[in-house]
Amino acid sequence: MTDTASLSPVTAATGHAASWLSKCPAPRCLLNFTRHISRQHWCSDVCGNRARIARTEELVDER
Ligand SMILES: [Zn+2]
Repeated sequence: MTDTASLSPVTAATGHAASWLSKCPAPRCLLNFTRHISRQHWCSDVCGNRARIARTEELVDER
């Protein structure tokens, strides 16, 4: 076992620190944020919730 076992898969694969600037994909959000958790997709929980709601509304509209 090496220390890499404790790092995220991304870190292990790239050798870079798992921290990079990422654009928030939430609707109507133009913020960039430093993504340091591989599961973090939004600049904040607010955007995560908004995106989830937007997806639900899209599904409703398709009916
Ligand atoms: Zn955002």
